[in-house]
Amino acid sequence: MTSGAGASSRTPAATQDEVRRHNLARLLRLVHVHGALSRSELAAQTGLNRSTVRTLTTALARCGLVRETHPPGRGYAGRPSIVVEPESRRVFALALDIGAEHVIAARIGLGGLLLDRREVRQPRGAYEVAPMIGRLCELLAEVGSAAPPDALCVGLGVGVCGVVRPEDGMVRYAPNLDWVDVPLGLLLAKELGGDLPVAVRNEADLGVKAEHVRGVATGVRDVIYLSGEVGVGGGIILSGRPLTGVGGYAGEIGHMGVNPRGRRCRCGRRGCWETEVGEDAVLLATGAPPGMELADVLLAHAAGAPWTRAGIRQVGHWLGVGIANLVNIFNPAMIVFGGATRGLFPVTETTIREVLRTALAAPRSQVLLTLPSLGADSAVFGAAELVLDPVLDHPFDAPQRRPATSATSAQY
Ligand SMILES: [Zn+2]
Repeated sequence: MTSGAGASSRTPAATQDEVRRHNLARLLRLVHVHGALSRSELAAQTGLNRSTVRTLTTALARCGLVRETHPPGRGYAGRPSIVVEPESRRVFALALDIGAEHVIAARIGLGGLLLDRREVRQPRGAYEVAPMIGRLCELLAEVGSAAPPDALCVGLGVGVCGVVRPEDGMVRYAPNLDWVDVPLGLLLAKELGGDLPVAVRNEADLGVKAEHVRGVATGVRDVIYLSGEVGVGGGIILSGRPLTGVGGYAGEIGHMGVNPRGRRCRCGRRGCWETEVGEDAVLLATGAPPGMELADVLLAHAAGAPWTRAGIRQVGHWLGVGIANLVNIFNPAMIVFGGATRGLFPVTETTIREVLRTALAAPRSQVLLTLPSLGADSAVFGAAELVLDPVLDHPFDAPQRRPATSATSAQY
């Protein structure tokens, strides 16, 4: 055989292998997003024939990524319709959401099943990195402790309220934690033993990812997710793809200038959007008594406290100004009010919509304003999706990525 003939005989085989890998990834992602599906439903959704689906789901089951079960009763045409479901308890991600005033740690299974969760409130302030890493690892140990011994941890996803370099998880700037150039990804990976994949992103980018995969923005190709507490962040998906910018730093909508006469922002500019609509803005605008937090003000407002009204309306006005800007610039189909705006949106919606009338009519008529369906957990679910992505894209690589037996070892 000549080398040329050898090459030509290998090419179709390689192509076939690629097609098989592509179809495996499609099937696994369908089960991950939608939960248990019968083989016939998978065939209908992918256009693959049923025998191909059977072969591929059997392979996924052998990898330990899905489980195939015979449902009770008889299925279509009198034959049992085997159901394929994700192995949510065997294959999981660890996830962290680090905010200015909270940390959430979670263990989330393939299929988006929340298996364990801890939330810790923390006072606002500057946080030394080393003690914070220690506390984060303690939380991860707690949420990882109940995982079965044969489970596979695919990685740790982390969301943080700051500007993050995606390649290595370097937190370039997190003003509300007082962090500049903190190598968070590397530090966490080292602390966890070095062989667990760790990925870090801005928490708003993860919030929009989760709401897009399994939340209120499922199937929505152009969506903006608002996040944050003290500050305001934005996660943006346009034409179905995350808007990252050249360095991965896009979406800092909290630093959009809206009020030249406004207060000085932590970034150094004056009148950034977050100085008008962030948590401090609400406290200042309402003249809330010292010690009160945003939640207290919202409770007082809901109870009809007159002192809250003008301030809440003022914050609603500035929210509307920023939303109108976002609508004009990005023409989103949906804006999701996550983070601190989740509590603010219901009480400011009327004002926001009044101001939104100043936006251009064409994009304004196409935008839906809504709350997240994952509540306070959008970012932590997005963090899990981040490290589950490589498994979903390359299912056969997953078991080799990390031995199942070490997933819950003592290092957590
Ligand atoms: Zn700013």
